[in-house]
Amino acid sequence: MTLATLYTVCWIWIIVGIATFILLQFVTAPYGRHTKQGWGPQISNKVGWILMEAPSFLIILYFFLTSDQSSFASMLSILWLLHYFNRTFIFPFRIRTKGKRMPLIIVASAIFFNLINAGLNGYFLAYFENYTLSSFAKWNFFLGIILFLAGFIINQISDHKLIHLRKPNETGYKIPKGFLFNYISCPNLFGELLQWSGFAIMAWNLPALTFLVWTCANLLPRATKHHQWYKSRFPDYPKKRKAIFPGLL
Ligand code: NDP
Repeated sequence: MTLATLYTVCWIWIIVGIATFILLQFVTAPYGRHTKQGWGPQISNKVGWILMEAPSFLIILYFFLTSDQSSFASMLSILWLLHYFNRTFIFPFRIRTKGKRMPLIIVASAIFFNLINAGLNGYFLAYFENYTLSSFAKWNFFLGIILFLAGFIINQISDHKLIHLRKPNETGYKIPKGFLFNYISCPNLFGELLQWSGFAIMAWNLPALTFLVWTCANLLPRATKHHQWYKSRFPDYPKKRKAIFPGLL
């Protein structure tokens, strides 16, 4: 594949991402608190998470191991792998979702989304990157790494707090409090958005931007749906709390 072809695929994929964002204003992805019947066969929630996220880890690992990446590109690959190692092999074993299931169609669509996004980013980092050591001295590296690490920490703390709202065998929902939950309903999704914004700023290439568009397309509607769900479920839900951006949305 030439670079021009890769860019064409990225632009098409960005358009599909924007269309998905519009679609997700009307359709709520039926997993987690939004799970419902009528979406076909279901599988275990934990197995679903592993299957959905594994392609992102394995594809970047494949390109990382089989190509001769510069130190800057290797750093990007390693950050991606760290995130997806957690999401694929640690997060599913930490969540307290005993007996929960998710539709196979959600798993299949997430696998497809992850195959394309990781494929575009891995291919670029393997065959088209031209970073040099001086890339580590540029403004976008410093800004990007700060956003990525801050986002990672916010995502981890928030997911930890959410998971521990339940005792080991509980399945219900409670109002999360403390940390960024005082300002927004979904600091875990806010952290994840910061992370991939930081990644795109550091990488400064079209595949990383494409992935950021897709992350926004998935997470912004999910955050607003989570927020509406909290407000309709808990009459005493804090009025000033926003969905994902403190004071804004
Ligand atoms: P949620 O915030 O819905 O759930 C996270 C975990 O905490 C789940 O196990 C959930 O249980 C539990 N939980 C959440 N809220 C409560 C509550 N009020 N009371 C009790 N337990 C609660 O996150 P998502 O499932 O949407 O996402 C999980 C992770 O995956 C996040 O870190 C997110 O950033 C990431 N993600 C990334 C995407 C991307 O495009 N990059 C797309 C989607 C998610 P239950 O499942 O039973 O609701």
